[in-house]
Amino acid sequence: MALVESSINLEVGKVNPDLQKERDGASFNPNDMTLVLLGGPKRAQHRREVVRQLFSDPVFNQEMRYSQSKTERYDQAMHQSIRLAEYMIEKGWTDKEMQTAAVALHYDLATAVHAVMFVPTILRLATPEQQAEWLPQAASFKMIGTYAQTELGHGTNLKALETTATYDRSSECFIMNTPLPSGMKWWPGGLGKSTTHALVTANLIVDGQSHGFQVFLVQLRDVETFEELPGIEVGDIGPRISVSVTDNGYLIMRNVKIPRNNMLSKYCTVTSEGKFLRQEGTAKSNYGTMMMVRASIVDLAFQNTSQAVTIATRYGAVRRQSELKPGAKEPQIIDFVTQQYKLIPNIALAYGLHFTKEYMLSYYHQVFEEEIQKGVYDSVPELHSQSCGLKAYCTDLSMDTVEVCRRSCGGHGFMMASGLCSLLMDGLGSVTYEGENTVLYLQTARFLMKNYAAAMQGGRTARSLAFLTANHPTCELLDVFNLPQLQAVFDVRAKFMLECGAVRMSESLKNGRQQYEAWNENSVELVRASKAYLDSFTAVNFMKRVSTLDIKPELKDVLMKLCRLHALHRIVSSAEEFLQSMAINTKQLEDIRSAEIKLLASLRPDAVALVDSFDYHDQTLNSALGRYDGNVYEKMYDLTKRNPMNEQSVHPAIHKYLKPFQAKARL
Ligand SMILES: Cc1cc2nc3c(=O)[nH]c(=O)nc-3n(C[C@H](O)[C@H](O)[C@H](O)COP(=O)(O)OP(=O)(O)OC[C@H]3O[C@@H](n4cnc5c(N)ncnc54)[C@H](O)[C@@H]3O)c2cc1C
Repeated sequence: MALVESSINLEVGKVNPDLQKERDGASFNPNDMTLVLLGGPKRAQHRREVVRQLFSDPVFNQEMRYSQSKTERYDQAMHQSIRLAEYMIEKGWTDKEMQTAAVALHYDLATAVHAVMFVPTILRLATPEQQAEWLPQAASFKMIGTYAQTELGHGTNLKALETTATYDRSSECFIMNTPLPSGMKWWPGGLGKSTTHALVTANLIVDGQSHGFQVFLVQLRDVETFEELPGIEVGDIGPRISVSVTDNGYLIMRNVKIPRNNMLSKYCTVTSEGKFLRQEGTAKSNYGTMMMVRASIVDLAFQNTSQAVTIATRYGAVRRQSELKPGAKEPQIIDFVTQQYKLIPNIALAYGLHFTKEYMLSYYHQVFEEEIQKGVYDSVPELHSQSCGLKAYCTDLSMDTVEVCRRSCGGHGFMMASGLCSLLMDGLGSVTYEGENTVLYLQTARFLMKNYAAAMQGGRTARSLAFLTANHPTCELLDVFNLPQLQAVFDVRAKFMLECGAVRMSESLKNGRQQYEAWNENSVELVRASKAYLDSFTAVNFMKRVSTLDIKPELKDVLMKLCRLHALHRIVSSAEEFLQSMAINTKQLEDIRSAEIKLLASLRPDAVALVDSFDYHDQTLNSALGRYDGNVYEKMYDLTKRNPMNEQSVHPAIHKYLKPFQAKARL
């Protein structure tokens, strides 16, 4: 074993010679790039220490995860959750350290929703007194919670949720009910088996009058015995496409009484006399949790994408197959240009997503931690629209990438041991939860249409839509590597797509359609407009961020290539829209395609170094194909030997069914 201080994988065995050759031939030091991505040596070192410590503990060993039954996985996920809680107490791990650990474990913890939704919602919507009462219990896991909003009948349309919280003045309690069958809560993570409490979204009713949806803390189970409390029925909703163990559950409440104090009351409250009081800012603060979670899903999309390209690129360097030069040694599969076309634009995308999530998280911070504190709400609509749109756009692209990477590994990509199947299966939820992606694109489209109308009337637009009033000549792409020219091309296409949406809407309205009919009739075009805006935003953000980085020249050089490749690849992927908008002409499209292939060749020698820079621990990747040392076949054989199916050389089913049948047949 060799010690590699500059990698998160501290102890590395003998490295596969092909992979070593790739590392030796790179134009930059991956450790330098890691420091850029992670925000400096201190942060990178700290992350490495936390993750190394985590994986030196056998409780967090992921190796046999794919061979475990669901019950075994649940057992490990609960064990991991509790061990992390112990780390908090014994090692004094902070929230940030816990988050680093959870990310390294893909949030595959029995208490993931507790950390991601339950505690943050209490922090955002509960009064200081409620927080003082509940948060210590949540921290010590005396109270383990989930966030129960979605119902069997409705998820997207929150106004149609059926759960009620009816105020009973005589007992000063709320009476909770989930009308059956469609009103039962369905999907909340951890609800099935792991939680004692839930934050339940319910329609507040006082004296027969509805006061809209509020959030209530409901105890589900006895905290000592974990048995369900009277009036409560909870359980796991059943098998899902997922390797992750989160026990998504259902909840039925039949006349469950909860104290008046259990309504989260930072902004709204019900007095003991039954008077409903609302403070300013309720709606915006509710949005806050959603925006925060969506911003963190953009980060998740980056994680999934960068892990998938790490696995597939390392494997592409190690795997030798077929013939390239007649009679020569089999080439590394990454030397096939078609293979490079699967991998390298997706490496570029992963870097693009890195800068997108940086933007998203910092914009969220700026608006919620700074502007709103000063009473400035101007940026909220743009942040809301971008958090919806970027959540959808980034998770869509990320899932496409994971699948491309999986296929790029041939047959072995179909094995769980590749690590790519679980990235795909677990990642797929991200296109649905926290807002189904189409619905989110349409949310963004509403904001875009408003801004488009404002721009056309000479009014102000949101910051990210300044291109609507810029005057770009068409077909000005003289040099396909010139960043300002590429930015202009994206702007022209986005503006055109917004215009298409707006024109179609206005034609429908002119033809006598109601607003809602026009919206539905043109929704396909409106989703296209959203995607064009988001495509433009991410590509331009990538180019701008890289252009302003003050870093070593060799790092800058490779990042410039990546952001150019990303831009060119996005143009090729939606070529018809760029042509239709006359942002480019057919000759320029040809030039772009050639330039894309040239960039592949130029980035090829750095492919492995670029993915090494993401600095993933082998246990996080949990992939025989994407190991840091590249010893793919050895690891696959090792895992196969430990596969529970191979524990006995003759399976009992042979003796149970085949042998009796053969014996009978002989008679
Ligand atoms: C893995 C996973 C984990 C989850 N975890 C939680 C959790 O912890 N807590 C919780 O409360 N919920 C959770 N959910 C539920 C999730 O938030 C909802 O499933 C999600 O919001 C989508 O809502 P829906 O199921 O009602 O989809 P639907 O709205 O029924 O969507 C079905 C189809 O209808 C279309 N559609 C719906 N409305 C419109 C519209 N207005 N315009 C155009 N098309 C439309 C959609 O585009 C989609 O194609 C989870 C879901 C998953 C998959």
